Amino acid sequence: MTPIGRYISSPMTLLQNVRLVGCAGHFDLSIANGVVRNISAHSPSITAEATVSVIQGDGHLAIPAFVDGHMHLDKTFLGTDWISHVGADDVKTRIAEEKRLRRNHAASMAHRARTLAETALAFGTTAIRTHVDIDDETRLKGIEQILELREECSELLDVQVVAFPQSGLFSCATIVEDMKAAVEIGADVIGGLDPSLIDGDFDKSLAVTFGLADRFGKPIDIHLHEPGEIGASAVAKICERTVALGLQGKVVVSHAYCLADVPHDALSQLAEMMQFAGVAIMTGAPGAGKLIPVSALIDHGVRIFVASDNVRDAWAPFGNGDMLDRARLLAYRADFRDDAKLEFAFDCATDLPADILGFTSRGPRIGRQADIILLDTPMLAQAVCDVPTQRRIIRKGRLLPPGGGGIAQRSADTARHLDPR
Ligand SMILES: [Zn+2]
Repeated sequence: MTPIGRYISSPMTLLQNVRLVGCAGHFDLSIANGVVRNISAHSPSITAEATVSVIQGDGHLAIPAFVDGHMHLDKTFLGTDWISHVGADDVKTRIAEEKRLRRNHAASMAHRARTLAETALAFGTTAIRTHVDIDDETRLKGIEQILELREECSELLDVQVVAFPQSGLFSCATIVEDMKAAVEIGADVIGGLDPSLIDGDFDKSLAVTFGLADRFGKPIDIHLHEPGEIGASAVAKICERTVALGLQGKVVVSHAYCLADVPHDALSQLAEMMQFAGVAIMTGAPGAGKLIPVSALIDHGVRIFVASDNVRDAWAPFGNGDMLDRARLLAYRADFRDDAKLEFAFDCATDLPADILGFTSRGPRIGRQADIILLDTPMLAQAVCDVPTQRRIIRKGRLLPPGGGGIAQRSADTARHLDPR
């Protein structure tokens, strides 16, 4: 696994003999200061100057590195002993149970978050949007530690931090003030959660969330677990407020399970509102029957992307931080079978979240940041189904040391110490 914080990008790199998606033949890529500057047909005889680093592509497929647009680095138990999952009847019970588990966990949040970030990087993710809890117990400690991690790993990972009121905005008097403070010390995005079922006041909740975004000039990313009519009303109100504040293209609704419940005609109307407002939808491709109607949303021009969400934490024992596996899950759940749709599932883990969330475009194209994965696979569509684990990761033109393996290599006792909380 790649230790975070030890690598800098190489000024000049020649990536030789790779294949590109949709292009016949083999190619050489010239990379300068971390950006792809030129692509030419592969020439076996070409020799690089001594000052240029050379990466032998060996005819492998070069694809963009992943963008994981919805993680919870602060929540994961990855890198520590297995914690048996405890059931919960509703979101409020789950939140309380999570607090209990995290309060009593022996390993520090900083260690667990770092482990997940390193694991994601080893799978080829070079950009992460992470939601970070702000509640009555954590206050700003989680935000501060994730901001420190972001600083430390900036050469390897681009990280956006969402100030996330996991217990609701109004569950105690300090949270709204802490949300403001979080942005002032470096959080990038205003988070939100279930305006009716958690915050208990639909209009007040959205007014505060959008008010913070307006005041600080920040985008919004709202967790919406609310079902059926309640959730659909929230989506409509979010679209209205987005347009009213001129935030088109800067608002994400995460999950939006309600869209799976909405009747066809109502869905069309709602999708048109989302398209007009530029409100995008994140799905984790959940396994419990609540997948958003992906094809219908795309047909209406609604932008979607896929992300890991919870990785082995109090919310779910599943997840491994591998976005290629997450693309496969999306394809499986959405019944994507032909090559074009399988490649679209891949785009949902790469180009689409980069564009929606405002990360620098990455991948093997001229002008893009040279964050590239090399796969020994015949075709991208096959890779989405096979999920090959042997990957070489290039970050800003520099080949990272062999990674993968991830979780098992992080011995729990290497960093087990008392939680500084
Ligand atoms: Zn989440």
